[in-house]
Amino acid sequence: MSVLLVADHDLGQLSPATARIVHAAAQLGPIDLLVIGENGDKIAEQAAKLAGVHKVLLAQELSFTDSDLALLETLAQRYQYVIQSAGSVGRDRIPALAARLDLMPVTDVIEILGPNRFVRPIYAGNALQTITDPQAKHILTIRASAFPAAKSDNTAPIETLGDTTASVARLIATHRTEGDTPDLATAQIVVGGGIALGSAENFQLVEKLAKKLGAAIGATRAAVDAGYAPNDWQVGQTGKIIAPDLYIAIGISGALQHLAGIQGAKRIVAINNDPEAPLVKLADAALIGDLFEIVPQLIDELDKAGVSR
Ligand SMILES: Cc1cc2nc3c(=O)[nH]c(=O)nc-3n(C[C@H](O)[C@H](O)[C@H](O)COP(=O)(O)OP(=O)(O)OC[C@H]3O[C@@H](n4cnc5c(N)ncnc54)[C@H](O)[C@@H]3O)c2cc1C
Repeated sequence: MSVLLVADHDLGQLSPATARIVHAAAQLGPIDLLVIGENGDKIAEQAAKLAGVHKVLLAQELSFTDSDLALLETLAQRYQYVIQSAGSVGRDRIPALAARLDLMPVTDVIEILGPNRFVRPIYAGNALQTITDPQAKHILTIRASAFPAAKSDNTAPIETLGDTTASVARLIATHRTEGDTPDLATAQIVVGGGIALGSAENFQLVEKLAKKLGAAIGATRAAVDAGYAPNDWQVGQTGKIIAPDLYIAIGISGALQHLAGIQGAKRIVAINNDPEAPLVKLADAALIGDLFEIVPQLIDELDKAGVSR
């Protein structure tokens, strides 16, 4: 059983999601962890430390869809599994690779039951499907939030790949959203805001509470569509899937599509003026009242208690 796992990374750092996918994929066999990207040496060194990694493969100077896929298509011949996290890159890359290989991908895996049996959510997380994949090769995306991180106690060898395919694409510019809050998909605390915030300016209340708690910031699609929060903060069926220890939901009703993204949250606190809101009923604790009174009070109390991250 051999596993080719594609690492996620950003700004020269291995993403925390990769350690979780390594932990999950280690159940399937020894892992060759592929790092694709310019100046990937530092990322490869971080990847080599993860327990369960047999070897790190480093493909420098590739970062375009066409060349990445050509490389993966070639490498895939040698492996029984090709896997990436179900993040934005993996969701794009893995189905495209499966199409090239004429295979059916199994996406959003949250549990591995055996070499070819996987559990994945369907109907916006309202049901779980167990799939037996009869194909000889398995092409998977795995939800990082469903697994703990692999330990960092390994010293796997790093092999640099030569002769990587040249791309016909040319990088013109990169635009990125700057932020100093933790990654939503792997954060331990998430503070989310809904349309009830009423404006981008008011949404800063959510950001202030999140920063105080060292939390990541989430938003409903309604808040994103209204322009109160950036798209990459959206949590839910068509946004990010989160599994924090604590989710504080401010002015969020709890529509099914939002709940689909927070099912892994271990504790939920809802702040809402409607005691009948679905999220209030689902929450472990609820503060019923006007968010514009409750949240500033909460921030004041945290200040008094000296809580600041
Ligand atoms: C195909 C599809 C995909 C979707 N994907 C997603 C997704 O990924 N993520 C997502 O979030 N949504 C998604 N949606 C949208 C979803 O259906 C809801 O419309 C959205 O989640 C509602 O957002 P909300 O809770 O901010 O707003 P509302 O449902 O309007 O809720 C606002 C809440 O704030 C409370 N409130 C109002 N004023 C105050 C106040 N002053 N103080 C305290 N509480 C107050 C209200 O009581 C209410 O409970 C999707 C919809 C579709 C059709």
